[in-house]
Amino acid sequence: MLIRYTDYFSASYQAARTKFRDAVNDAAGDFASYECPSGRGVEGEELAIDVGLVGNRHSPRQFVMISATHGLEGFAGAALQVAWLRNRIDPRLLGEIGIVLIHGLNPYGFSHGIRTTEDGVDLNRNFIDHTANAPDNELYRQIHPYLIADMADPAAWAQAQLALDHVRGTVGDDVLFDAIASGQYRHPDGIFYGGAARTWENRTLEEIVLLYAGRASKVAVIDWHTGIGAYGKPFFLAFADDESQEQMQAVKWWGQDNVVAARPHGRNRPRYKGLVFDGIRGFIPHAQVAGGVIEWGTRGPVAGEMAIRQDLWLRDYGHLLSSDAYAQMRADLLDSLNPVSYLWRNSVLSTGVEIMNATAQGLAAW
Ligand SMILES: [Zn+2]
Repeated sequence: MLIRYTDYFSASYQAARTKFRDAVNDAAGDFASYECPSGRGVEGEELAIDVGLVGNRHSPRQFVMISATHGLEGFAGAALQVAWLRNRIDPRLLGEIGIVLIHGLNPYGFSHGIRTTEDGVDLNRNFIDHTANAPDNELYRQIHPYLIADMADPAAWAQAQLALDHVRGTVGDDVLFDAIASGQYRHPDGIFYGGAARTWENRTLEEIVLLYAGRASKVAVIDWHTGIGAYGKPFFLAFADDESQEQMQAVKWWGQDNVVAARPHGRNRPRYKGLVFDGIRGFIPHAQVAGGVIEWGTRGPVAGEMAIRQDLWLRDYGHLLSSDAYAQMRADLLDSLNPVSYLWRNSVLSTGVEIMNATAQGLAAW
């Protein structure tokens, strides 16, 4: 059944939205929609965060699953939400847990095929306390000009790469990766920019989580992403204190090695700031929240970082390219974070359905 990946994946945000709504309806679930007040889609369409609810809404155990935190990475997560609704959710589980499927958390980025929101913010770094002083990231400030080097100028690009290699040689690969990926709050034109205020997506997620999981005592979270890990394979980033109950749960669901020994791109895990997961934990502080991000690997570490820089560069400077060059680089970016191959898509679907079932079973037994 999963061979027909086109039943679950979509070629556009609009098509993904329709598939999700139909799948929720066919599963006899409840559907809610939160329209984005600013910004339209790439085809001028309305943008919204959609929510599908199945299972036991009154259960103290709620499973929150999110797609498209990083816009275009959402095609895989949205496909999994639809695939799970249409295939093999164990009916016995539906009596025991509630399932809150959040489709298109960053609908603007999803529709426009970019990672950031309509405000130009990396949503997965936005969930900090914006009333306090923004966290500093000294090393990022130093390397920022290299990270946004001109991709259309081979000499400038090569010079930036040399400069980054030099910094890597000085501080080490792990420290450099931490500076790049942990998040920064001073350079709106830079990568992993977490914004200066809570975005609409952030505030809407709070509304959704409080309404549908606000009375739960145990919450499982999967926030689907792409770009880290081996091609078509899952990569787990569980967020929990060492040896906490939440970490033990994630180990039960996802496996000891996957949870405890996970090294993104083979490096130490960055000290991530402002994650969606942090936001959810803060919205429902009385609840135990376990889980985190699951990535689907695409082209590996070098190309993964390139895609993040290419995404921003095309967003800000793509208009300077010829339409032909722009079209080629856009297609490359999309394939980098949402591979078109049936091999990748089938691998995501078959493995992802197993992960969702394991997580739901684990939550029901927690
Ligand atoms: Zn991501």
